[in-house]
Amino acid sequence: MGYITKMIPKVDLASSTLEAESVNLMTGNPHGELMAVTDSLGSDKQIVVIQRNPHAGTARKQREILDLVRELKRLGMIPRLFSSRERLDRWMSHPRNQARVKCLVGAGGDGTLQNLISRHPGAVLSQLPIGTENVLARHLGIPLSGREVARMIAVGHVKQMDIGRWGNRPFVLMASVGFDAEVIHRAHAERSGHTSRWRYLWPIARALWNCPGVPLVVNIDDSPPRTAQMAVVVNVPRYALGLNMATQALDDDGLLEVRLFKQGSAWSMWRYFVHLCLGSHERLADVESVRGVNVRIESEVPRHVQVDGDPAGTTPISLTVMPGGVSLLVP
Ligand SMILES: [Mg+2]
Repeated sequence: MGYITKMIPKVDLASSTLEAESVNLMTGNPHGELMAVTDSLGSDKQIVVIQRNPHAGTARKQREILDLVRELKRLGMIPRLFSSRERLDRWMSHPRNQARVKCLVGAGGDGTLQNLISRHPGAVLSQLPIGTENVLARHLGIPLSGREVARMIAVGHVKQMDIGRWGNRPFVLMASVGFDAEVIHRAHAERSGHTSRWRYLWPIARALWNCPGVPLVVNIDDSPPRTAQMAVVVNVPRYALGLNMATQALDDDGLLEVRLFKQGSAWSMWRYFVHLCLGSHERLADVESVRGVNVRIESEVPRHVQVDGDPAGTTPISLTVMPGGVSLLVP
């Protein structure tokens, strides 16, 4: 006999047991397991606010959140985990809380981080890249590891990165009008259940079949209007599927890179795609590379726009860039 059993609350991300409203702190016991304790924050402690996207990533990726929480605690920081955006924003609206925040972490994909930027533009932000698409994290070299992200936060190396703007909303990666925007709109319209890259296959096939080109007029700063069949405006050089749309793009030069694809046939789209995969599209005679601050894309008939891989209404669209507009923790 003589067994001593310890009751440890079951950590279940699916039912949000770690939600900050029900559990203020997580602490490690000697066996590395997580226990809930009551709030006893010292004023000198640094809080790391984590916004979790419950729909992003697999169960295995979601476990990285536990590693993040555990390692932050071990390094002397105080993690607060939120699944609800509204609750996070309410908590952040108290100046006393805000003053103790070291950073906000988006635990999810590019969309989760983009959403945090739009809601808390002045905050220092970081990401635990557990989404379907983690283009920005790949670009910045942020590891898919809760433990390593916690260590990165502890070191605290901040990068001022440019942020694009469409209207009064931010974009992180890129915006476009044309073939890829049409595909994204179709894929979202038919969306059901878990996000996967495969859901783009059928929309791509259909967009290729139905005249893929979109006649556009593109105005870049004060230069004369240009025409194109597809226009991509890039802030961060990385694009979906690990491709690089604008190889010369710098994320901190205060400029947007524009790539204008001049032909609109299905054959041209295939050809552009193959060259994009090979990294040779910018050397094609019918692809124009331009750099600027203010970009306006118009079309006679309203055309779909995509911003950071999500549908964003229709043309006309005006885009600009805020130099150093976001503070990101990087390795
Ligand atoms: Mg730039």
